[in-house]
Amino acid sequence: MDIIQLLPDSVANQIAAGEVIQRPSSVVKELVENSIDAGATEITIIIKDAGRTLIQVIDNGKGMSCTDARLSFERHATSKIKSSSDLFTLNTMGFRGEALASIAAIAHVELRTRRAEDEVGTKLTIAASKVEGQEPISTPVGTNISVKDIFYNVPARRKFLKSNQVENSNIVTELERIAIANPQISFTLNNNGVEVYKLHSATLLQRIISLFGKTMNTQMLPINLTTTLATITGFVGKPENARKRGAQQFFYVNGRYMRHPYFHKAVMNAYDGLIPSGEMPNYVIKFEVDPATIDVNIHPTKTEIKFENEQHIWPMLSSAVKEALGKFSAVPSIDFDTEDAPEIPIFNSNAPVRQPQVSYTPGYNPFKYSGVNKVSNDWQKLYDNFETPSIVEEEMTMLSQPTTQQSVGVEQELIPTETIPASVGNYMQIKGRYIATTIKSGLVLVDQHRAHTRILYEKYINNIDLNTQPVQKILFPEIIQLTPTQTEIMLAIESELLSVGFEISNLGSGSFSITGVPEGSEGLNYQDLLLKFIDIATETGTTDTTLFKKKMVQTLASSAAIPYGQALTAEEMEYLTQELFKLSEANYTPDGKPTLSCLTNEELEKRFK
Ligand code: ADP
Ligand code: MG
Repeated sequence: MDIIQLLPDSVANQIAAGEVIQRPSSVVKELVENSIDAGATEITIIIKDAGRTLIQVIDNGKGMSCTDARLSFERHATSKIKSSSDLFTLNTMGFRGEALASIAAIAHVELRTRRAEDEVGTKLTIAASKVEGQEPISTPVGTNISVKDIFYNVPARRKFLKSNQVENSNIVTELERIAIANPQISFTLNNNGVEVYKLHSATLLQRIISLFGKTMNTQMLPINLTTTLATITGFVGKPENARKRGAQQFFYVNGRYMRHPYFHKAVMNAYDGLIPSGEMPNYVIKFEVDPATIDVNIHPTKTEIKFENEQHIWPMLSSAVKEALGKFSAVPSIDFDTEDAPEIPIFNSNAPVRQPQVSYTPGYNPFKYSGVNKVSNDWQKLYDNFETPSIVEEEMTMLSQPTTQQSVGVEQELIPTETIPASVGNYMQIKGRYIATTIKSGLVLVDQHRAHTRILYEKYINNIDLNTQPVQKILFPEIIQLTPTQTEIMLAIESELLSVGFEISNLGSGSFSITGVPEGSEGLNYQDLLLKFIDIATETGTTDTTLFKKKMVQTLASSAAIPYGQALTAEEMEYLTQELFKLSEANYTPDGKPTLSCLTNEELEKRFK
């Protein structure tokens, strides 16, 4: 007896679906890519229950005819390639004709679509690969497709889905990749009735800012390189904005997101010596190459893409990034004296080797300098304060001369001019860590990070007490996903977070969006920070809000304070020192570490006896 049977189409489709559709985010990716291929300029994505209940994508693309609508759900039905040779000139995202067939095999699908030239559109309902209905319908030009109850007929797969927060974050990840690839397209993401993103048509940099926050504006340096092998454009983060976790790193080739460990190394090579090991820079780098020189055909869901000219593109990429970082001085952008040189097509004439235009400033300063002009009057206060024993107790008790100014306060004319050091404005930075300057009573060393931490701490505490902490609105909120335990704590500390300037809105299912942050705390990784706050609250408990607040502000101040290793200008050193000495508790950090140390004139004299 023969035992081999042909599988019914529906079963074959279901098996094939497993290849393309692994989770709700795969559906989102496929549908949105179809909208892009259809020339849409506006795409709306609606998600319910992390995609379990509903994934809906609405576009204003070219739509489908009645026949095409029906055909689009057949396996290997595509309008994008006609012969195998088309595979080598791909400029669409899809081409296999598998996505819709796969989706229809494992969900309830409802499609509404209309072309501009048709008066009526088509509505089509399919479930488990079976067409359940098709009728003419009035609908806007474009396509509106709803995928309901994903994997309803494949319980094993449905069970395999992760928690809502994981599935949600997968969806957001897919969408971010696509949104960065297509900044000219408007995207709206609505999750359980909450608008998570509304991204307007924009430039690449604007799109990056919309997704990852305003601080990206000052963090990203443009890269731009045209050769006959590839055009490389995009943005790379300044070295000082590199971070240990959560760096935003995106590679694209011809509009397609890809992972490329080999090119990643080329980028990291350019940062060599500029960032501590273990830290990762942000980057968004786009390659445009001849489609015939890449192979996107490896696997429908794989993001690895093979380049024919990988070895030649490597040094170009590394050079382009170095150039953006201003790392070159006299060195030309590409070293042609390599063995490979003759094979590398030379830059074409309208893209000559350029000298670096963007200079890398190791001293880029995240805190705002409030202005040099204010300095002169405040100096008097500085000396005055500095002599008050409560400010620098230990150091000052060693002073021998009694001071007369102490009693008369801050009026500057009462301070004898000869007490003002000759070296006002003389600051020296030592080992990227200490600020050295002279004061009337001797030499003072200030720890730059700790000093700034103290200054910020006082500022935040003061603002909290007065309820005046300014909030910097984030137009396109960062999303943070929490476990159920973390979610509980987050809800418990919400009002404390608000008092320090964090505006958080609860999106449900452990998903929160950060819509506002404390003004002046630019450039921080807010997700990391909030996780730290949650850890602190776990430790302190959420009932003792005073202790929690203190520790939270301490952490915030320390994260926002200028780091060690950052070069400071004279003005910045002056500003820091001056602001520090204005405080009543200048000489220790909130957690009790010394911020400054003083070498008195007396001690100095002793040393030279
Ligand atoms: P592929 O994208 O690989 O061609 P799909 O299964 O994703 O395969 O889609 C099948 C076909 O359906 C596409 O080739 C396209 O002609 C049509 N199609 C799918 N989605 C849309 C859409 N949003 N607008 C217009 N046409 C679409
Ligand atoms: Mg497709």
